Amino acid sequence: MLDVSMYIDGEWKWRSAKGDNTRNIFNPATGEVIATAAEGNEDDAQAAITAARKAFDSGPWPDMGVDKRAEYLFKIADNMEEKQQALTQLETMNNGKTFPEASYDVSDAAACFRYYGELIKKSSDQTIDVPDPMQSIITHEPIGVCGLIVPWNFPLLISAWKLAPALAAGNTVILKPAEITPLTAIKLFEIFDAVGLPNGVANLVLGAGDTVGNKLATDHEVDKISFTGGTETGRHIMRAAAGNIKDVSLELGGKSPNIIFADADFETAVDYALYGTFFGAGQVCTAGSRILVEESIHDLFIERLVNRAKNIKVKPGNQTGAEMGPLVSEDHFNNVMSYIEAGQQEGATLRCGGKRLLSPDLENGFFVEPTIFTDVKEDMKIVQEEIFGPVAVVQTFKDEQEAIRLANGTDYGLAGSVFTTDDKKAMRVIKKVRAGITWINAYHAAYNEAPWGGYKQSGIGRGLGTYGLEEFQEVKQINVNLQVEPVNWFSE
Ligand code: NAD
Repeated sequence: MLDVSMYIDGEWKWRSAKGDNTRNIFNPATGEVIATAAEGNEDDAQAAITAARKAFDSGPWPDMGVDKRAEYLFKIADNMEEKQQALTQLETMNNGKTFPEASYDVSDAAACFRYYGELIKKSSDQTIDVPDPMQSIITHEPIGVCGLIVPWNFPLLISAWKLAPALAAGNTVILKPAEITPLTAIKLFEIFDAVGLPNGVANLVLGAGDTVGNKLATDHEVDKISFTGGTETGRHIMRAAAGNIKDVSLELGGKSPNIIFADADFETAVDYALYGTFFGAGQVCTAGSRILVEESIHDLFIERLVNRAKNIKVKPGNQTGAEMGPLVSEDHFNNVMSYIEAGQQEGATLRCGGKRLLSPDLENGFFVEPTIFTDVKEDMKIVQEEIFGPVAVVQTFKDEQEAIRLANGTDYGLAGSVFTTDDKKAMRVIKKVRAGITWINAYHAAYNEAPWGGYKQSGIGRGLGTYGLEEFQEVKQINVNLQVEPVNWFSE
């Protein structure tokens, strides 16, 4: 059994500042307690904010040369790669995802630190032409103390997506992992400690969203909040951050359309429809959970999709051949099951799945069968709301216009894709999909180099790529007078 501590101002804290509460951390594949975590509260968040403030205002980090900061990021990446196996095992044990999924996350998270180490070395400062005798220099500076709040579905990867650009830019940070999945974040902070990040530069506070997270969002000493999580929480964070007009970035939920035209490569489209929906047991913000199929191929497509969905190997993520793991927790499992019930009550046709898996090796975990609904109506709860589980709804369309209208028919706008062999149609349609992350004849591919974020109620701002670095930078103009003499605007 692991004991999980917080990391504040360069020290490990097992006890919280007030009280000594702890939280049991579970393995969702077995229901077993695998760790006990210190449960932080507002006082711990305060201690971390004070440490980060001091490290930003008077520490070496913001003023350190970019080459030197980059060196830290490269060492972090190297260390993560050395611990690839241990990190993969921990992520699977805590989140439930399969080994291949977890292993990909670890590699990608390490690559993210390396990418931002390289990027910060390429200065984006510039001198621009302005009328003589002035010269204008545009320069980028860190924002200050950044609160980073992350969800449970990609505990390590989303932490890296925030920590790497924030640290590269010279900010000091406080990471708050989701309360149920802190294990890989602790390992990452052990790496930060080992590479010798100066005290207070990176702090880790564990605990609940409405205490620790809320404190980070409201506190006036925090300059920026970067949040990934549900849209409702994002709304709360925007309100909480208004007090000191914090810079806010929000990566929120989705209900993304996967549009399949009759002229698509049939097997490719079926395969990606499965991958888009059931990868990560559907607990992926960009999941293509609304499959839009052109009427003329609907029945054939559903038959093939359902047959393949029934074959997905649902097992504990650490078992050989596991293709889909459990849902992350009992609460989340109950939530997903309530959507499956709602779909049936609303009159959708359940084509496969819909039940908990209860064979002897799975009965204590939170495993749900891959589930597909057809004959849905646009206003159904299962069509409009993010289920965040292995549940696909299939809608049908007659033509391009109807496909676009249905694709854009929710409050979300995170991701979307189009499958067709007609290149012009593919571009026409994808340009009309109101979403920030899109694919043509593919799904789920994501790159550290490309911007990540949503339209509409899927968020504000873009993570990753150069945009992700700018999210953690202030932009300053320095205007230099090259001819020093009075301006004489006013008479003597
Ligand atoms: P959540 O909103 O419940 O929690 C996310 C984080 O916010 C957790 O650390 C939680 O403790 C914290 N939090 C909760 N209440 C808070 C409050 N009042 N103030 C401050 N912090 C608070 O989300 P979740 O259930 O952990 O994650 C699933 C959601 O995340 C889904 O909606 C999914 O689509 C979204 N998500 C989005 C992206 C993206 O890139 N757009 C990526 C992954 C997940």
